[in-house]
Amino acid sequence: MKQDIERILIPRDRIQARVREMAREISEVYGDDSQGLIIVPVLAGSIIFLADLIRFLPFKMKIGLMTISRYRGATTSGGEVRLVQDLTLDIHGRHVLVVDDILDTGKTLRMVVEQLRGRQPASLRTCVLLRKPARAPKDFAVEFVGFDIEDVFVVGYGLDYGDHYRNWPDIGVLRPELYA
Ligand code: 5GP
Ligand code: MG
Repeated sequence: MKQDIERILIPRDRIQARVREMAREISEVYGDDSQGLIIVPVLAGSIIFLADLIRFLPFKMKIGLMTISRYRGATTSGGEVRLVQDLTLDIHGRHVLVVDDILDTGKTLRMVVEQLRGRQPASLRTCVLLRKPARAPKDFAVEFVGFDIEDVFVVGYGLDYGDHYRNWPDIGVLRPELYA
């Protein structure tokens, strides 16, 4: 696996420190309302981030699962966003935080937010570990962002290429010749 990574973009200790900080930012926003918080991770890219993030949250929360499919092996943001598995919890009147690995063109999160807004949650916010400002839409606000990164294809810490590399502990740039 190591030889497929061109360089490390964000090492594991920096990720951990930032995730801890993000948990603090999230706790400040929800405060006393946090008892009703439902976290909706966008699977599968957010699983590692989610697992680390929620262990730093000091309040009661639930996880509502839904699966979205975006890429089919490609590294460009082509193709449709597809709802593969709908939410397992009722979010009506609840505070909802959607968690995803990365905001690229914003198509995925926009679709998820649209789906969830129709179910009338008390509030609806979004949280991503990574954002590519070069491509992210200016008219789509994400409340919590871990790192802004350059426009390169990254893997590791949950992010995949063809479903591989999710278990790589750092966030790294995949060798371009592997998907060229
Ligand atoms: P968007 O819909 O914002 O264009 O794309 C978001 C989704 O595309 C993310 O949830 C992620 O699955 C995938 N994605 C976007 N950029 C990258 C990247 O650099 N690396 C990987 N592994 N996935 C990405
Ligand atoms: Mg994803």
